[in-house]
Amino acid sequence: MDIAKDGNAAWFERAKRVAPGGVNSPVRAFNGVGGTPLVVQGGEGARVRAADGRLLTDYCCSWGAMILGHANPEIVAAISEQAAKGTTFGIVTESEVVFAERLCSLVPGMEKVRAVNSGTEAVMSAVRLARGVTGRDLVVKFDGCYHGHSDSMLVKSGSGVLTAGISGAASSAGVPADFARLTVSLPYNDITAAQTFFASNGKAVAAVIVEPAAGNMGLVPPKPGFLAELRSLTQAAGALLICDEVIDGFRFGLSTYSALVAQVEPDLVTLGKVIGGGLPLAAVGGRAVFMDRFAPDGPVYQAGTLAGNPLAVAAGLKTLEMLERDNPYRAMADVCAALADGVNGSARQRGVPVRAARFGGVFTLFCSADPVTDLATAQRCDTRLYARIFHGLYDRGIYIAPSQFECNFVSAAHTADDAERFVAAFDGTLASLRRQA
Ligand SMILES: *Cc1c(COP(=O)(O)O)cnc(C)c1O
Repeated sequence: MDIAKDGNAAWFERAKRVAPGGVNSPVRAFNGVGGTPLVVQGGEGARVRAADGRLLTDYCCSWGAMILGHANPEIVAAISEQAAKGTTFGIVTESEVVFAERLCSLVPGMEKVRAVNSGTEAVMSAVRLARGVTGRDLVVKFDGCYHGHSDSMLVKSGSGVLTAGISGAASSAGVPADFARLTVSLPYNDITAAQTFFASNGKAVAAVIVEPAAGNMGLVPPKPGFLAELRSLTQAAGALLICDEVIDGFRFGLSTYSALVAQVEPDLVTLGKVIGGGLPLAAVGGRAVFMDRFAPDGPVYQAGTLAGNPLAVAAGLKTLEMLERDNPYRAMADVCAALADGVNGSARQRGVPVRAARFGGVFTLFCSADPVTDLATAQRCDTRLYARIFHGLYDRGIYIAPSQFECNFVSAAHTADDAERFVAAFDGTLASLRRQA
């Protein structure tokens, strides 16, 4: 028995005794790939240290939140400094005002913003606001997109829901069918389906919510014109367009995907992950005419004891400051491109049906001979092949998402050497698969 893995397993045994499935979020389980989930003691830069002491190069990066790598000294200093001054007051603090000003200056169309603690809360609040503003109940989302785990959003959901293969009207037990009925899920990237739906139901729609570049069925960028069409359909129908930028926002540049890449201006934007600098912080923002409908000035109730708490804001502000100062986006994209190109070259040469989908510093290794453009094509992937590749990389000191239906992230701490090592490990994995076959 592998002593290293044994140390990890001992921790996970303890975890299983006291936590459901041994995890605090299903995406950390290894149900999609088999084996014992990784338990870490800590991390530094691009690496995490497993419970057994083994160092792994990490491409999960807390699902993209750690865009500057683990335990970045400047972020750590910002957090420590704030901790000494107090961590939460339940009173307006100076730094949360600065944080809101910062987001409004960086995201076009964002005039006001409310800070919350998670992406789930940001989306839940945005959807309630859209319903409150329009007086309509129906919400449109897209198959395979994940918008957190609030009741309205667990319909044909991506991420851990997809990995678990849960199906039915709602993607989760405990979501009443009467709630699920109010959420319509359409195929992502299908302009005709959206047009057809809006032609007969447009006036009943409170909001369309979309991940501008889908990241929770693996990385699936939007087809040209898809987001622009959603903008014009919602505008014509008097519905709101919500861009869920929790994964995309500040990932590809110092603003949202909708602003930087798609050039579409939604009514509401949700942010999370990157903007929290590794602490629990997310936000919903948009035009003041809508945002002012939130309590206390408006009738849409929304609140939070720890919302905008100074500790998380300190990490978020420092992250935004460093992203602006160091502009690591180009370097992250270059590392990721080298990695993806190397992977695709190796797969082609060895005749294994894997292709790395990539945008900026984000990638997914799709185990499919065909391009993945929506949930239907994502579900054609060979998840058993993915599991074998995952374990091949894992044994070679590389940690990617333990599921086919997730993104992997290159941080500012990853280097060209890391990309090279990844490609070598991937090629070695494919070689060993052939030997086993
Ligand atoms: C991660 C994610 C969420 C949920 O955020 P949490 O902080 O995990 O609640 C919502 N939407 C998208 C697009 C995400 O990627």
